[in-house]
Amino acid sequence: MIQKNKKRINLLEQQHILPREELSALLDGQCEELSAYLFPKADRIRRENYGTDIYVRGLIEFTNYCRNDCYYCGIRRSNRSAQRYRLTEEEILGCCEEGYQLGFRTFVLQGGEDPIYAPERMEALVRTIKSHFPDCAITLSVGEHGKETYQRWFDAGAERYLLRHETADDSHYRILHPPELSLQHRKQCLWDLKEIGYQVGCGFMVGSPGQTSAQLTEDLLFIHELQPEMVGIGPFIPQKDTPFGKETAGTLEKTLFLLGIIRLMLPQVLLPATTALGTIHPRGRELGIQAGANVCMPNLSPVAVREKYALYDNKICTGDEAAQCRNCLAARMQSIGYQVVVSRGDHKSRTSTPQ
Ligand code: SAH
Repeated sequence: MIQKNKKRINLLEQQHILPREELSALLDGQCEELSAYLFPKADRIRRENYGTDIYVRGLIEFTNYCRNDCYYCGIRRSNRSAQRYRLTEEEILGCCEEGYQLGFRTFVLQGGEDPIYAPERMEALVRTIKSHFPDCAITLSVGEHGKETYQRWFDAGAERYLLRHETADDSHYRILHPPELSLQHRKQCLWDLKEIGYQVGCGFMVGSPGQTSAQLTEDLLFIHELQPEMVGIGPFIPQKDTPFGKETAGTLEKTLFLLGIIRLMLPQVLLPATTALGTIHPRGRELGIQAGANVCMPNLSPVAVREKYALYDNKICTGDEAAQCRNCLAARMQSIGYQVVVSRGDHKSRTSTPQ
C-alpha cells in the first residue's frame, strides 16, 4: 500500500495531476511514513522555484461586518456575540505605513462582505494605498462580487485576489453554507478574477464538517483546473458561537500532507503556511514551510481590533504588535533555515521574462 502511494507521489510530481481514483487513494493513504516521503520532495520543488525565501504579506483585517452567514465562520451575520468594527481609511493607511517600515511589500485587505465598504469606496481605498505605496502589491479578500466590480478594483491597482472556494463539491458546499450562497457563483467569481488578470488564490479548510477524501479530491481537481497563482489552505477550527462550535478541528498532519501535494501539483504556486495552522500547533507554520509552503501572512491590524476578527477560537498573535509578529516570524523562519525577504513576492510567471 505504502509502495503504491509512493509511486502515486512520483507520478504526481511528474505529471502534476492524477486520475480521480488515484488522487483519492493517495489522500486515504496519508500516514507518517508517506508524509516523510512527500515533504522533502515538496521542499525541493519549492527550493527550485523560490529558494529558501519566505514571502510575507501584511494582513489588514479591516472590517468584520458581513452580510453572509457561513456556518463555520465567527464573523457570520447571525453571530450576535461578535463585536463588530470597521477601520477607517486613515487607520488602514496607518497599518500600511507601519507595515512598509517593517519591510512588507504586499498588503492584504481582508474582511467580511461589508456593504458599507461599497465598490466605489473600496476603489478609492485601493487608489489611495497604491499612490502612497507604488512599489507594493495590493491583495483583496472581500468575497463575492460582480465582474465589473472586480474589474474596477483591478483598474484602481489591486493585482491579487484571495477567494477560497471552500469546497469544490456541491453537496459539501450545502453543508457549510446557507441556501442563498452557491458553489457555482463562487467558482464563477474565481474564473472572472482570472480572466481580468488578477493573481488569484483559491483554497479550502482541511477537516471542515462533513469533509471526505472524495470531496478533497474534487478540491484538488478544481485547483488543477483553475491553475491559481495562490492556494490558501488551513485547518478548520471551531468558533464557539457558530453552528459548528462543537465540531472537531482539522488536523495538522492532514493539512501538511495537502500542502505537500499542492506543491507537487503546482510547483510555482504561492502557498501560505496559515495562521490557522499556527493556531493548532505551536510550530505549525514552520512545519508548513517544511512541507512545501513559501508564504506567511502576519497580522498588521491594530491590536485593539485583533481579537474581534475571530473567524475561529484561540487565534494566535492577537495581543502582539505588528513589529513583534514580524520579528517573531523572522526568527522562526531562520530557525529552520529560511529567510523572510523584503519583496512583493509575485508568482514566478509574473516575474521571470519569457524566453
Ligand atoms: N469574506 C472573505 C474573507 C473570508 S475569511 C471571503 O469570503 O473570501 C477568510 C477565510 O477564513 C475563509 O475563506 C475561510 O476559509 C476561513 N475560515 C473561516 N472560518 C474559519 C474557521 N472556523 N476555521 C478555519 N478557517 C476559517
